[in-house]
Amino acid sequence: MKALTVERPGTVRLLDVPIPTCGPDEVLIRVQASGVCGTDVHIYRGEYLGEYPIVPGHESAGVVEAVGPEVSEFRPGDEVAFEPNISCGYCRACLEHRENFCRRWRGIGVTVPGSMAEYVVAPQRNVFSTAGFAAEIACFMEPLSCVLHGIERARVRLGDRVLILGAGPIGLLLLQTARLRGISSATVLERNESRLDLAGRMGADRLVRDFDGLDTDSYDLVIDATGSIPVLERAIEYVRYGGTILFFGVAPSGERMRIEPFLIFRKGLTIVSSYTSLRNSFQAIALLRTGAVNVTRLISHRLPLDEFERGVELIERGGEDVGKVVILPHE
Ligand SMILES: [Zn+2]
Ligand SMILES: [Zn+2]
Repeated sequence: MKALTVERPGTVRLLDVPIPTCGPDEVLIRVQASGVCGTDVHIYRGEYLGEYPIVPGHESAGVVEAVGPEVSEFRPGDEVAFEPNISCGYCRACLEHRENFCRRWRGIGVTVPGSMAEYVVAPQRNVFSTAGFAAEIACFMEPLSCVLHGIERARVRLGDRVLILGAGPIGLLLLQTARLRGISSATVLERNESRLDLAGRMGADRLVRDFDGLDTDSYDLVIDATGSIPVLERAIEYVRYGGTILFFGVAPSGERMRIEPFLIFRKGLTIVSSYTSLRNSFQAIALLRTGAVNVTRLISHRLPLDEFERGVELIERGGEDVGKVVILPHE
């Protein structure tokens, strides 16, 4: 099979490798669609936890090709997606239902071969049925799961006035899911005109290109979906007294921001983060299946496997027409 391999940061090769075999409780999936995520970009650039060489890709969907002898829930031909985080089930974090912080964590597409290949293997308990909807929609199960975890962490309440910073694919998923929670207004800040436009069509009430003109101390919840330090530094000004800030966007590892701790105290702020997901896949699938969350409009590019690097460059450049880039390994 063809497998796109990041040999070391910045160096990618399309290799011919044997189709992996599945262990007793594993599922072999023929990958139909694999979204390029910011994490893949970080792995490509050497800015993440990845071990090299690695086949990236962790947001994907496909069809079951084969199953191990102990797999009871899936059969060849089933349409599925998988959670990339493999937890051990018996460390303290796992036993306290914080599997996303498993001490023996492994990540498909991060530490074990991922889905930027024609086939990928996942443990049965990471696999979910996505029967009845297209793979390019089902491959959003993973990013949507992370977004749902963030929405849970932020404790979004009925009637909240929400400010969302950034309207890339993740910002737009945060917007849609916050709306489903019954917020009263959504303001979206984004420099890119076409993304801002899309935010308007996906339920934002107010669209702004920068902070000028926004009222300070006025949002119950500010959600950052940029990971940009200069943006994060300003979030505190706009959240109301007693409000919440959700740090969702991934800031560059090792970078620092300047904040005035007195303001956090004086405003009684709650600052929360969100790390991957915590078994939110069934919720994500239900929302994708009914179309309650629309992802089709987020996809801007569908590329074959050998154009992965072009996909990364498109995301990094972040031009007007770039949304979600999806790789179709069998095209
Ligand atoms: Zn991702
Ligand atoms: Zn564990």
